[in-house]
Amino acid sequence: MFFPEVIEMSVPRFWRRIHSLYRLEGNKCSKCKTLYFPERNRCIKCNSNEMEPFFYSGYGKVVSYSWVYTPPKGFKSSIPYCLSIIELDEGPRLTTQIVAVDQDEVSIDMPVEFAFRKISSEGEEGVITYGFKFRPKGYPNHKKKKK
Ligand code: ZN
Repeated sequence: MFFPEVIEMSVPRFWRRIHSLYRLEGNKCSKCKTLYFPERNRCIKCNSNEMEPFFYSGYGKVVSYSWVYTPPKGFKSSIPYCLSIIELDEGPRLTTQIVAVDQDEVSIDMPVEFAFRKISSEGEEGVITYGFKFRPKGYPNHKKKKK
């Protein structure tokens, strides 16, 4: 069984995790093989703390989505944006933003792929936080395939 998790990341936590952000790395319980994204220190299924790195394919599908018009602080420049729950091909679900789509393009079960993008910048110093977002699978040629 897998649990959706909301991804929120402070700057220090981001720097600790930068390598996993580039490659969509989570981890796997060595004992019962349950997959996690983001990674966990302990398996919530069997309580083992024997965890190993696991690299996801970066592909998944849309489970649910919503267009956001009233964003939290720091997101104003990108409204409206599509907030979605994605189910990775390997099973885990995560909350993320879908980019490079028009409002009439997004649908349930739409195939998507990992895209490394800027998420927000803080203040005038411009500390930019990067992280994962998703886009239509096959982008930028995803539209041609439909027609
Ligand atoms: Zn386990």
